[in-house]
Amino acid sequence: MRQQSIWLIIILMTLALMGLIFVQAYWIKNAITIQENQFNQLVNNALTDFSKTIQEREAIRLIMNEMELLGVDTTGISGQMKSKTDTGIGIIKHNDISSVTPGHTEKNNYIRSENARALSDSFFVIEEKMSDLQQGKQQMITRKYYFEPAINKRIIDKKTFINRLIASMLLVTPQIENRISKAELEEMLYDAFHQYGINIPYEYAVIKWNNETAFKSANYKAKGENDYFTVQLFPDDIFASSNYLSVYFPQKENFLFRSFSFMILASVLLTIIITAAFSVSVIYLFRQKKLAEIRNDFVNNMTHELKTPISTISLASQMLADNSLPANLKNIDHISKVIADESRRLGYQVEKVLQMAVFDKGKVKLRLKETDMHELIRNLIENYAIQLKSKGGEIRPVLDARQYVIDVDTVHITNVLTNLIDNALKYCTREPEITVSTRNTGNCLVISVADNGIGISKADQKRIFEKFYRVPTGNIHNVKGFGLGLSYVKKIVEEHNGSIEVESQLFEGSTFTLYLPLNDNSSAS
Ligand code: ATP
Ligand code: MG
Repeated sequence: MRQQSIWLIIILMTLALMGLIFVQAYWIKNAITIQENQFNQLVNNALTDFSKTIQEREAIRLIMNEMELLGVDTTGISGQMKSKTDTGIGIIKHNDISSVTPGHTEKNNYIRSENARALSDSFFVIEEKMSDLQQGKQQMITRKYYFEPAINKRIIDKKTFINRLIASMLLVTPQIENRISKAELEEMLYDAFHQYGINIPYEYAVIKWNNETAFKSANYKAKGENDYFTVQLFPDDIFASSNYLSVYFPQKENFLFRSFSFMILASVLLTIIITAAFSVSVIYLFRQKKLAEIRNDFVNNMTHELKTPISTISLASQMLADNSLPANLKNIDHISKVIADESRRLGYQVEKVLQMAVFDKGKVKLRLKETDMHELIRNLIENYAIQLKSKGGEIRPVLDARQYVIDVDTVHITNVLTNLIDNALKYCTREPEITVSTRNTGNCLVISVADNGIGISKADQKRIFEKFYRVPTGNIHNVKGFGLGLSYVKKIVEEHNGSIEVESQLFEGSTFTLYLPLNDNSSAS
């Protein structure tokens, strides 16, 4: 796939993902708004019902009181409602004023009869101005009463009943505290909310016409960021002033979010999964692409590299086969050395191809063989000795392990050690001093390759085993490589159920340590 197409796909996919996230956020926000509107509607309905109920209850209470006056037995009628009539009904309690007649002077009160106003033939309203005669003050108070001459409960007629009822309803005291108790109000409010399925905590206050608070719940705050719902209490009063109930729900936002929490969580989770899957695919795509490029480079280089030794070897073999040349001119030693060198080079190139192939397979198929690791290391070191001598360096074995015969895939393990020694040589700016040592710890054969090279920083140490990772070269070194060597090493060591560690100090050197498990019958040979 071309680089441009990949970028196009990435851009499209990113845009689509962003769009998806945006659409989801939009839908969730919309759904929350709808839910909030529904909730508000429910609260308003509950409050309207509540307001109606308390008004109805008061009316029933008044009627029942009047019926009691008529002598009607009200015990059967809504017993529960009747039981609440004791709490603050106001006007009926003023029945005892019935003994007051216009112009009459009571102990403390002077009633100015000229203010008496007839409501009907048997009722009066008195604008009563009283002065506290005992204290000699002229404290004037204006009150409204209904008033009638003494009545005989038994002989009250229907007309009187209706009149009394209307008067009691009209002349309801504006003092809300006298009309409903706090406990009653709380109970009715609770019932109203629960009837509408509103089960979250709320705070309320009853606010009077003069902005004073009549009742309120313990934590009610008059000013806050909350949405306040208000409803007028006793809205059908004619003369009485308005009282309001104000309610808010401190956990409303939480409640709305909670009902969508599953949806929000699921969308966030799905988005994360999609984003993660997309990112992994892109990373994988790039890796594969890089691998493909490297493989191409590699094959091109390799073909070139393979051609040279093959043609040299074929030339040498032609010389040997040429009967026209006398045997003493053929310099057999030189020709055989050329053939040996070139075939080693060929072998090395073929191993590289093998290493590349490892990354295509999931699991490497190992050909385990009982191997004397000390012998393998000695042979390897011998191959490097000449090369190192020419550089003025040294490679030495410190083979202390007592159990060193283990089951390994010789080809792969040789490649592993070759990679480590190659690196030790490549990343060194001084005369190379390389030590390959072995020892036994626990159930392992430990092989270390230590060098005096340029070292690896702590941050890079964590990444050098990644495929394609190469320490940014900068001024430090300028050596060619694919960044595959150590990832191959790690893979092979792990396939042998072993592990690899690195210790390094910048500018001082590095030590790569392999831990290879001993097999049960490992023996000191
Ligand atoms: P390749 O081995 O595939 O030809 P490479 O040598 O760059 O390429 P690795 O062998 O995986 O890749 O090494 C990864 C990086 O780790 C190297 O590029 C180098 O920067 C750093 N590194 C590895 N060994 C040493 C070492 N002995 N001393 C200092 N740096 C090292
Ligand atoms: Mg390498």
